[in-house]
Amino acid sequence: MKKILLIATGGTIACAQTSNGLSPMESGAQLLSYLPQVNELCNIDYCQLMNLDSTNMQPEHWMKIAHKIQDEYENYDGFIITHGTDTMAHTACALSYLIQNPDKPIILTGAQKPISDLVTDAKKNLLDSINFATKDSVSGVYIVFDGKVILGTRARKIRTKSYSAFDSINYPIAAFINGNQVLRYFDDNPDNSKPVFYSKLVPKVFLLKLFPGIEPDILDYVGQHYDAVVIESYGVGGVPFDSKRDFLMALKRLTEQNKIIVLASQVMLEGSDAEIYEVGYNAIKNFNVLQQYDMTVESAVVKLMWILSQTRDFEEVKRLFFTSINHDIITEL
Ligand code: ASP
Repeated sequence: MKKILLIATGGTIACAQTSNGLSPMESGAQLLSYLPQVNELCNIDYCQLMNLDSTNMQPEHWMKIAHKIQDEYENYDGFIITHGTDTMAHTACALSYLIQNPDKPIILTGAQKPISDLVTDAKKNLLDSINFATKDSVSGVYIVFDGKVILGTRARKIRTKSYSAFDSINYPIAAFINGNQVLRYFDDNPDNSKPVFYSKLVPKVFLLKLFPGIEPDILDYVGQHYDAVVIESYGVGGVPFDSKRDFLMALKRLTEQNKIIVLASQVMLEGSDAEIYEVGYNAIKNFNVLQQYDMTVESAVVKLMWILSQTRDFEEVKRLFFTSINHDIITEL
């Protein structure tokens, strides 16, 4: 039987009602007590690393989860992290960059309803995760939710309330789970490369959403406090350069300070193609500006945190940013 470690971190799945609203209360042991059949599938241990609403999750917590997996890597065949849905996609990205080419499954799951509710998605999601983690030759960082297995770098929370909370953005889902049946669409890590663990992230990355009327001098403030900025611009990507609110001049000032800029899109699907229009071309060609292409915004932000821990050289940042990690980017350059 496979050995699985359940790492409990909180989220709705573990919530109970308090006088101030739902708050994570149930432990990993209590979560497992709702699913006695798990003992027929695997030998499962649990650890309670934290008990947070994932709104409170910070890069320091991602590091804690990654370190725990690294410490226990040789002791288990797979890892399941129960987590709130609100920032699960970010944590899945962080684990994808901190633990590269894992040859074991690292699976995040959670629920839209607490496991103690009469009607809940929690038991299915947890059981599906355990089912998937115990299948042979499954490796990689994934979110398992509502029967879908989604690559950790491709997940996005797209619904606030329904069970189908996550989707895979600009990439096919990796598998569907229906009871004991797992339909896998591709094998990860088919060449069995060795896992590589990283132990640092630099969270000095800002995410700025454009709207008509936004003043470009916000970027001067960003430059004083952050090393990189992801600009969620419009459509395939671009910035306003109207003389009243000229973002190109602000990008020039950031470039002179050796800051990294990524042009991304507010549109969820199909990614950026910023050279198509003059509003994007001018930014890309003249300054330290990269673009998101088909990556998710979550991936772009967290990948920059990982890259900043290694280099500040723009050419090297560019090389790493466009290197595919856990299938985060497929655009051919
Ligand atoms: N606020 C909760 C959290 O992210 C939502 C959930 O888990 O579904 O922890």
